[in-house]
Amino acid sequence: MSYKAEYIWIDGTAPTAKLRSKTKILADGAEPGVWGFDGSSTNQAAGHASDCVLKPVASYPDPIRGGDNILVLCEVFNTDGTPHPSNSRAELRPVAERFAAQEPLFGIEQEYTFFEGTRPLGFPVGGFPAPQGGYYCGVGFDEIHGRDIVEKHLDHCLAAGLGISGINAEVMPGQWEFQVGPLSPLEVADQMWVARWLLYRTAEDFGVSATLDPKPAKGDWNGAGAHTNFSTRAMRENYDAIITACEALGKDGKPLEHVKNYGVGVEDRLTGAHETAPWDRYSYGVSDRGASVRIPWQVEQDKKGYIEDRRPNANVDPYVVTRLMVDTCCTELESAGLV
Ligand code: ADP
Ligand code: MN
Ligand code: MN
Ligand code: MN
Repeated sequence: MSYKAEYIWIDGTAPTAKLRSKTKILADGAEPGVWGFDGSSTNQAAGHASDCVLKPVASYPDPIRGGDNILVLCEVFNTDGTPHPSNSRAELRPVAERFAAQEPLFGIEQEYTFFEGTRPLGFPVGGFPAPQGGYYCGVGFDEIHGRDIVEKHLDHCLAAGLGISGINAEVMPGQWEFQVGPLSPLEVADQMWVARWLLYRTAEDFGVSATLDPKPAKGDWNGAGAHTNFSTRAMRENYDAIITACEALGKDGKPLEHVKNYGVGVEDRLTGAHETAPWDRYSYGVSDRGASVRIPWQVEQDKKGYIEDRRPNANVDPYVVTRLMVDTCCTELESAGLV
């Protein structure tokens, strides 16, 4: 019997790219091959030369349609065979390959906010809910909004075979988090994009939208981040490597180079309040949720493990944050002989 392949790709919308997808019917036994789309409708081409090319890079069982149907994640190419400028995965590939022997692993915490119309889910019409305090990891009808969607999304991620490692309710009502990883740079980034697609797709059936807006409610409400947890084999074995990675991220020019690429609006979220460090001042510390980079207490105790870069915005491109962290930290670990 023929089956359905949902081709998913990242578009060229500025300043933050959006996900797009369309369905191809494949004959029984046929593999999902190269396909095309109208780039003039996705901010990826001009109308007079509108064709863009979709190259499948990973596929997953489709938990929405079930059966033999699949989700197909793609890279976007120009018709001359070069990667499209919007294709940030193509830039990660050589960096991931170059440092593969250091066995880098990532776990990314994706925070997001549900919206019903123009209000975060749980915000009353024309007003505000009770101030933050009880919502984080909360329980109960007065504090929790959208759990049915979150549970469905989790089940869908598991059925798709994604390496999702947990979920929790966040500090602001209507705000949630899921974590993907630990996985290799390409795997974590691919799976994060697919998990995001599944989030939007799942919420759609509930009449709710999900947003990665880093500051969805103005005022005294937490923003939404994408804390990026990182280790190499050396970091998982010794503390010198942990410190070397923290120092590498603070070397001249690095803090700004990273923050600039950690998602649009990062300066508005990294204010120094709401469990953030100011965007223009790099710091690291044990257990410190007010630092740019946190060394978890367990890691300090075990003298090995991983570090958490708390700066990336919820709307960060996971292909970009993983590339920058691998490049910056693995280069330094290599020079220090910590490989
Ligand atoms: P937090 O306490 O900051 O909320 P979470 O439990 O939400 O932390 O997320 C921690 C993430 O770190 C998880 O995705 C987990 O898989 C990941 N992680 C654990 N160990 C490692 C490691 N050695 N390298 C990279 N990531 C790791
Ligand atoms: Mn978390
Ligand atoms: Mn969180
Ligand atoms: Mn965290």
